[in-house]
Amino acid sequence: MQQGLLIVISGPSGSGKGTLCGHLVERRPDIKISVSATTRAPRPGEINGVNYYFLSREEFKKLVDADGFLEWAAIYSYMYGTPVGPVREMLDSGQDVILEIDVQGGLQIRERFPGAILIFITTPSREELERRLKGRGTDDPREIDVRLKWADTELMQAGGYDYVVINDSVDNAVRKLECIIEAEKSRPRRMIIPGWLNH
Ligand code: 5GP
Repeated sequence: MQQGLLIVISGPSGSGKGTLCGHLVERRPDIKISVSATTRAPRPGEINGVNYYFLSREEFKKLVDADGFLEWAAIYSYMYGTPVGPVREMLDSGQDVILEIDVQGGLQIRERFPGAILIFITTPSREELERRLKGRGTDDPREIDVRLKWADTELMQAGGYDYVVINDSVDNAVRKLECIIEAEKSRPRRMIIPGWLNH
């Protein structure tokens, strides 16, 4: 069986990567998004097991010690990680999987899964990012400042990624994501053509 494609999507908070991933899986229901674990509190409307697995610091640390994460990182003052079991199962059954994670996590995935594709999403400008963060009204001004500074750091690391997609409009950006995924799936090293020997 052909392994699924592991797709890492990163980008600053407010870049719209969550929205893009949502639209992408609507158009491509064959691709699944991995549910991460976090120690941060749920935002209004977020559901445990759907948006994240919301864990205490102790529960998270136990999972780290038990090698329960494919990757994990401390972001702002919280921990975030990708539970290993479901992702391995999906990939082994040929399912393509998206990890919507930060750059620290993306670079860990690069080490562990050289076949993964890493896509960085950003806004057309830093001002636009600030405007979007303020506009969504979920974070206080201090938190927004922290997120903007973090965005600067993430952008500097984007050079380690395979692709950058500028989220100028949702339609455009989703179309680009689909093109990247199609192109990656067409690489000969990823293809098994029935009836033909693969080397
Ligand atoms: P938020 O708190 O806004 O949901 O997410 C904050 C940041 O954590 C985002 O950049 C998001 O991509 C990242 N993140 C979410 N889940 C994971 C994860 O499992 N691993 C890592 N490394 N980052 C994550």
